[in-house]
Amino acid sequence: MFGIGFDIGGTNTKIAVIDKNYTLIDRFDTPTPLKSYRYFVEKIAEIIKKLNNKYKGVKGFHLAIAGDVDWENGILRYAPNLKGWKNKKIKQDIEEITGIKISLNNDANMAGYGAYVFEFKKRYKDMVTFTLGTGVGGGIIIDGNIIRGKTTTAGEMGHMVIIENGKRCRCGNNGCVEAYCGSYGIVREFMERVGDYKNYISKYKDIRTDRIDPYLIYILAKNGDKLATDLWKDYGYKLGTAIGNVIMILNPEVVVLSGGVSRAYHFFMPSLKKRLNEYGIKTPVKNVKIYISKEKDLGVIGSACYALER
Ligand SMILES: [Zn+2]
Repeated sequence: MFGIGFDIGGTNTKIAVIDKNYTLIDRFDTPTPLKSYRYFVEKIAEIIKKLNNKYKGVKGFHLAIAGDVDWENGILRYAPNLKGWKNKKIKQDIEEITGIKISLNNDANMAGYGAYVFEFKKRYKDMVTFTLGTGVGGGIIIDGNIIRGKTTTAGEMGHMVIIENGKRCRCGNNGCVEAYCGSYGIVREFMERVGDYKNYISKYKDIRTDRIDPYLIYILAKNGDKLATDLWKDYGYKLGTAIGNVIMILNPEVVVLSGGVSRAYHFFMPSLKKRLNEYGIKTPVKNVKIYISKEKDLGVIGSACYALER
C-alpha cells in the first residue's frame, strides 16, 4: 500500500512515494509544467497514471499546491506563483483524464502535516508549523486534526499583521509577517540597510556575491558581518512576535520552523526567544518547544502521508 504526494511549486514539482510504514520509497523532481493550464493538467495526469501502474496498490494521490486551495471541492482558487491561475477545477480535470481519485491542499498546510506525521510520528497533538521560504506559510494541527477553517484557508501565518502600516507584503496588505520574514522581505531589508551593495560586499573576497538572497546574508553573518548579524537579530524578534501571537491563541506543545530560511536559526533564535519571554502570560511560552525541522521536503512528504491516510 502506497501514498503518493506531489508538491507543486512555481518552478519545480516534487513527488514522493511512501509505503504503509511511512518509509520514503521514492522521491524525485520535475519542472512544473506551466506552458498552459491544459498542458499542466495533462502532464500531471500522465505522471499519476505512470505511478499508478508502477506501484501496485496505491491508496491515494494528493497534490499540495502553493496557493489558496478549496480543499473540499478540489479547486485552486488562486495561485500567484502558478501564472496567477484562478478558480481551476484541478481535481475534476485530472480525474477526468486518469479515472483516479485525487485530493488537494495548500502546500504549507501539508508541510505542517508532514511534521506531525512523518517527522514527529504524531507524538505531539498540538503543533504549529511555520514554513520559512520565499513566502511564509503554515500549518496548524490541534488535537491531531488539521485546522482548516470555514473556507479551508486557515494557517496563513505569513499574513498575520505584526506591524500596523508596516512594509508592503506581496498579498497586497502592509506589515504582514511575510513582508519581513519571507525571502524577499529579508533581501529588501538588507538592501535598504546596506546602501551601496557592491561597495559593501567588495571586502568579502571569498564569498559568492552574484545574487543577494537569505543564504548570502547568512554567510555574511557567519563571517561576523555586523549588519547581517543585526538583521538576523531583528528577524528573530519579528518572527518571535508572530510565534508569540500564535502561542497566545493556540497554546501549542510544539512550534516547528521549516524551510530554507530556518537554517539561519543560530543567528535568529536568541532574539526570537527573547521576544517570546516578553509575553506576559508565561505558562504557554515556558511549555512550548521550538524545533527546527530536519526534513528538507516536509511539503511533499506531508502530501504523501495525507494520500496514504485520507
Ligand atoms: Zn501578506
